[in-house]
Amino acid sequence: MTGIAMPRPDADVIARRAEIVRAMRAIVPGEGVVDADVEMRAYETDALTAYRQLPLVVVLPETVEQVATVMRYCHDNGVKLVPRGAGTSLSGGALPVGDGVLLSMMKFNRVLDIDWANRAAVVQPGVTNLGITRAVEGRGFYYAPDPSSQIACSIGGNIAENSGGVHSLKYGLTTNNVLGLEMVLVTGEVIRLGGKHLDSEGYDLLALATGSEGLLGVVTEVTVRILQKPETARAALIGFPSSEEGGQCVADIIAAGIIPGGMEMMDELAINAAEDFVHAGYPREAGALLIVELDGPEAEVDHLLAAVEAIARRNNAGSVRVSTSEEERLRFWAGRKAAFPAVGRISPDYLCMDGTIPRKALPQVLTRMRELGEKHGLRCANVFHAGDGNLHPLILYDANKPGELAAAEAFGADILRLCVEVGGVLTGEHGVGIEKRDLMPEMFTEEDLKQQQRVKCAFDPKQLLNPGKVFPVLHRCAELGRMHVHKGQLPFPDIPRF
Ligand SMILES: Cc1cc2nc3c(=O)[nH]c(=O)nc-3n(C[C@H](O)[C@H](O)[C@H](O)COP(=O)(O)OP(=O)(O)OC[C@H]3O[C@@H](n4cnc5c(N)ncnc54)[C@H](O)[C@@H]3O)c2cc1C
Repeated sequence: MTGIAMPRPDADVIARRAEIVRAMRAIVPGEGVVDADVEMRAYETDALTAYRQLPLVVVLPETVEQVATVMRYCHDNGVKLVPRGAGTSLSGGALPVGDGVLLSMMKFNRVLDIDWANRAAVVQPGVTNLGITRAVEGRGFYYAPDPSSQIACSIGGNIAENSGGVHSLKYGLTTNNVLGLEMVLVTGEVIRLGGKHLDSEGYDLLALATGSEGLLGVVTEVTVRILQKPETARAALIGFPSSEEGGQCVADIIAAGIIPGGMEMMDELAINAAEDFVHAGYPREAGALLIVELDGPEAEVDHLLAAVEAIARRNNAGSVRVSTSEEERLRFWAGRKAAFPAVGRISPDYLCMDGTIPRKALPQVLTRMRELGEKHGLRCANVFHAGDGNLHPLILYDANKPGELAAAEAFGADILRLCVEVGGVLTGEHGVGIEKRDLMPEMFTEEDLKQQQRVKCAFDPKQLLNPGKVFPVLHRCAELGRMHVHKGQLPFPDIPRF
């Protein structure tokens, strides 16, 4: 473990491990319970690989009844529980705890219903994001939010992180595309939120559950909106001398009233890494590359592409290349979608940050980020969902060099502080997890955080679900709001403070 501390494991629970494993085996038969260290290694980390921790035991249920029974057991016996999808979280959201059950949802992998009339698909949470599109594309439909990890990440993980992707600029994040959920509460009760219809009565708990990072319940069924594929989609590769000019072009496109189907930017380091890896035809000499996709009726796409090109030329674009076939359009995107693994080839390790800023601050933030790189002595490759103002700086470091991970984390924290300073937020789509947990006070007041934790307490009063994530300080639910420091002494010294 490095800088970010996790709650101290409960020695009493660890001492009861054999009994807990036996109880799990009674609920989930056969290979659904994994307790050998060597087999649990596959679950010890997620895509925030700097942090690793073996769980107490891994459980892979196959039915809602099994999920509910496992959760009820954990609740009644004071055992923590970390839900997990495909383990691609970049914020450490699926990191296990040593005194808790890791509940993998990957056996929930079936498409249950495709309702063409309601334009909805009902799937289990372990179905991959791309799996939903694959299930409906035969009839010209698709599921819009498309994280670059879509080949692997699960829709349950997407719900928990409120994931986005290239298409989110025009078609929204997960929260804008989910219609209903089935969720098991920590006490084992099953609730249903929303449905195939557009709006629900009462408080919007569906929106609350989306982005709740596994802290409120375990999702066992998901209903999403599916969209008809646009008549035409064409992408333009636009090279700029610098990221600042590319950033200004992004702001000008949006200000002109154009909402592209996707608008992504990469800086020089990312362009060359992606080109070496995928050979997408990117302009290697450019300081920044903008990929702009326009979709809709053909005449509209032609008109908008001409408008985008004119704006780009006004911002000193050096090259503009528009896709002439579907194959070419997909090749343009292949480089962007593979940008993270491509950067992984040029550095032993990288940290992927995920801040969001108001679009107009992009040129200023890029300049400041370069200065921060010099201050911390580390390189940074930039990949952005530029249209959303969502930045993904990839900080390159070598974990084998003493001090480099700490420097990378300090650099990342400075970038996220900068995002907040210019009016943005700490996370765009990767979640808070452990990665940004300790930075939450940069964005929220103590009272804001307590209010959020009161919501958590309404769902999980014993705080057993995904502990150590999202909240920088744990308050005991019963005392929440009445905690104060008296003459330098904190009450309840037994409550873990990270
Ligand atoms: C190369 C790469 C590219 C990426 N690109 C993007 C991108 O473009 N956009 C983007 O938004 N993200 C991206 N990500 C991040 C990641 O893929 C998403 O956060 C994704 O939604 C995680 O899904 P998962 O199934 O892997 O979830 P996990 O990593 O297993 O878990 C993530 C969180 O979800 C919770 N969870 C999982 N399943 C459930 C469930 N059934 N019920 C309740 N809670 C649950 C976990 O407790 C955890 O808090 C990328 C990651 C990688 C490695």
